[in-house]
Order: sequence, then C-alpha cells, then structure tokens
Amino acid sequence: MMAAPRLEINLDKIYHNASTLVKRLACRGISVTGVTKATLGSAEIATTMLRAGVKALGDSRVENIEAMRFAQVPASMAMIRSPMLSQAKRVVMHADVSCNTEIEVIRKLSVEAQKADRTHGVILMVELGDLREGIMPDDLIDTVRETLSLPNIVVKGIGTNLACRSGVSPDSKNMAKLSDLADSLEATFGLTLEIVSGGNSANLEWALSGAAIGRVNDLRLGEAILLGCETLHRQPIDGLHTDAITLSAEVIEAKVKPSQPSGTIAQTAFGEAPAVTDRGLVTQAILAVGQQDIDPYGLIAPAGIDIMGASSDHLILESDRSELSVGAQVIFQLNYSALVRAMTSSFVTRIMTSASTDKDYLS
Ligand SMILES: *Cc1c(COP(=O)(O)O)cnc(C)c1O
Repeated sequence: MMAAPRLEINLDKIYHNASTLVKRLACRGISVTGVTKATLGSAEIATTMLRAGVKALGDSRVENIEAMRFAQVPASMAMIRSPMLSQAKRVVMHADVSCNTEIEVIRKLSVEAQKADRTHGVILMVELGDLREGIMPDDLIDTVRETLSLPNIVVKGIGTNLACRSGVSPDSKNMAKLSDLADSLEATFGLTLEIVSGGNSANLEWALSGAAIGRVNDLRLGEAILLGCETLHRQPIDGLHTDAITLSAEVIEAKVKPSQPSGTIAQTAFGEAPAVTDRGLVTQAILAVGQQDIDPYGLIAPAGIDIMGASSDHLILESDRSELSVGAQVIFQLNYSALVRAMTSSFVTRIMTSASTDKDYLS
C-alpha cells in the first residue's frame, strides 16, 4: 500500500495550468513569474512551470531559491519577499532579483553584491491599498533616487501586491496608478523599467477582463497554477485543473459513536469550544493526519464525507460510506493553506506523477 499521508502532484496538470495561463496572459502582453513558495522550491514543479513558458521563478524564501539553484533549475529567480538583512548575502548569491521596500535592505544588498562582485536586480514594491508590503507612493521617487546611486544594484522595475492582507482587489484604478508611477519614474530619471509586476493570482480577473493593461507586463502566479483557482472568490478558472495536487490520508479507527460528548465540557486540544449538537449515533473515522500536517478547514473531502475537526495528529470524519474502514485511504483536494502546511510537514510524503515522462517518483 502507498505511504500515507501523501501529496500526489500531477505534473502534467500543473503543466497544463501554467501553459494555459501563460498563453492567455501573453495575448495581453503579460509574462508570468511562476511562484514556487508553496512547493518549497520543488525542482520538479519549477522545471514544469518553466517548460510551460513561465519567464522566471519567484519565491519568498531564500532557502527555496537555494534548493532550486542546487538542483540546477535553469531560470532567473526572484526573491519576492523583502530580504532579511541577515540573509542579504544569501539573496545576492542565489537570487537574480529581489522585491524590496526598505532602502536599508537595498544598501546592504549593494554591499554584499560588491563583495561578491555580482550585480543584483531590484524591484521596488509600491503600497497601493492592501497594506502589506510596499513603499508609500509619495516616497517612491526618493527611494529610486538612492537605489540608482548604489553600486552593483540595478533598478529592474516596480511592482505591487494586493489581495493578501486586506483583500483589496486589483482593478483599473490601482493598476493605472502603478502604470502612472512607472511612467513618472522613467520621465524623472530617464530610465527604462523592464518589469512592471502587477501582482499575484488575484490579478487574473483584471488582467483577462479586457481592461487596459497599461504598463503592467508581469504577474507573479502561484496558487492559480497549482490549484487552478482565482483568489478573489476562490472560483475554479475556466479550463484549468483544480485537482493537480491531492492529499491522501489513512483511516486508523472506524467506529459508530455518539455525536454528543459525555462529561463536563471544557476546551478542545486547540482551545476551541466543541460542537455539542446531538445527532444520535454517527459513523466516525479517524485519519492519521492532523493540524501539524494540514489545515483541516482547507481540505475538501469526497462527496458524502464530512470533516468534523482535527487535533495535532488526528483528523475526524463522519460518513456512512462503508469503505472508510481501517487501512482505507481517503483522497482530498486542498486549498492553499492546507497545501502549504502539507508541503512543509516532514510527515507527508510527496509523489510526483507525469505520463509524459512516464516516471513516478518520490521526493
Ligand atoms: C505568494 C506571493 C505571490 C503569489 O501569490 P499567489 O496568490 O499564489 O499567486 C506573488 N507575490 C508575492 C509578493 C507573494 O508573496
């Protein structure tokens, strides 16, 4: 029997998702940076994205970028989270470009780039309303001025990130603002910005709506490629696979039990108030996977199976489906939160499948 818990990653479906998005966006003059952070910088997935036509790779962790370099993934790589000062040297050594919001960090990247005799590209991220990372638009000119003066640093472009902290939707207004900033920086400093990076998977609706694209010529896409959904409403994207990655977990107990606990009720393992409706006797199954490996609220169970909750190592299901006996494995789809946790858990095996290369391999 196959090892469990297990992520099954269908590289052909990821290829299809990535190449479909690359083609649709190419019609709008937009290239794709494939974001690998949810895969922990998997060389197989990164290579699949590159074959599908993504122009570069992006990751928020320098460790993942290092892993892809070590595996000799042939791509331009962008560090898409503002580098830690303490990791500036590693960022310069392994990433070609980084997204930045603090001049102090860019100064340090310059120092490390000089020491290593390398040139490091900088994309300056602009705050356009979502209130996560970004330079306030009024401060951009000053930041660009100093960045341009720093040795071994090249200003590659500007970018923004929306719909992450506050759910602010990319729209014609904030995207036009980004384009205007690109135009005015070029006019002020007489430079050419190679990259205007409009955002993440949440930008797809705007980018494919037919709205004027302006100067935006790149999107950084992770979730849309891996999970096949847009991220404003988490709807499937037409023509994409939403099951490229699945999680299988194994039943370790299957019993009929009362739906209502007995005894004095206090807190659960994770400090929640337990559900206490009496639904009579229920058929319950316990799977050997838990909060340490997945977000139980981010798993999508097969029809007829309900996820009741999870502690660190146990996932509780209810179902009348007789096949949930001890030893059976249940296959779930995952949302982004469940996916990143499963990828990060060392207890979860990863299996990559691909018909086109005809090899199934563990990683
Ligand atoms: C994670 C991330 C992305 C990719 O986001 P998705 O929603 O997975 O497409 C893009 N840009 C930045 C800065 C990120 O942190």
